[in-house]
Amino acid sequence: MRSRGRGGPFGSRERTAERVAQALERIATALRSDAWGESRARGLTPTQAQILGYLRFRGPRGARVSEVAEALAVRAATASESTDALVRKGLVRKARVSEDGRARLVLLTAAGRREADRLAGWPEFLLRAVRALPEAEQAAFLRVLLKTIRELQRAGRIPVSRMCVTCTYFRPYAHPDPKAPHHCAFVDAPFGDGLLRVECQDHQPASAEQAEANWKRFVRAG
Ligand code: SF4
Repeated sequence: MRSRGRGGPFGSRERTAERVAQALERIATALRSDAWGESRARGLTPTQAQILGYLRFRGPRGARVSEVAEALAVRAATASESTDALVRKGLVRKARVSEDGRARLVLLTAAGRREADRLAGWPEFLLRAVRALPEAEQAAFLRVLLKTIRELQRAGRIPVSRMCVTCTYFRPYAHPDPKAPHHCAFVDAPFGDGLLRVECQDHQPASAEQAEANWKRFVRAG
């Protein structure tokens, strides 16, 4: 039988990496198409829908346009144009930031909050697929995704999000219980891989040294 490629059909680590990237691309395509359909049906562009979702997460703190751009990994001009379009639709408003006369905070209006709530659900098809996995596989999948996201953040490909692994309250592998080895010092409670947060309201950024030490411990012990 002929072998395909350098390591044969099942050979090299590189081929596995390519397949993982291919599989992620398939999932991304399904998500993109779902996001387009859902937001178009509601008269919004996907960026406008993402802005509503981000402002919903920020709550009464709102966000500056520059923060919106950073969170969504889009250009400042794109964030600004999309925000202005949402203002015209009555879904967001801009308020002056007291300490800086020129800066403006973007906040959801009541109509914007209702719209953001409607858009907030995860795509049902994706949730169904993930829920079909055994619980241990869901936790392992989450761990792998968090590590991949962290690598992408380090490479500057996606913005740093408010994940446990970059939080000052995170204590990886602080407990001997393999089901709940981590500790959140904010709520003072142990938790397992399946409850690692990707976006947490209570997140406080760790110092570079603490984040690096936590990361090494998290990766090494897992
Ligand atoms: S505060 Fe949130 S992000 Fe920080 S360790 Fe606790 S659960 Fe994780």
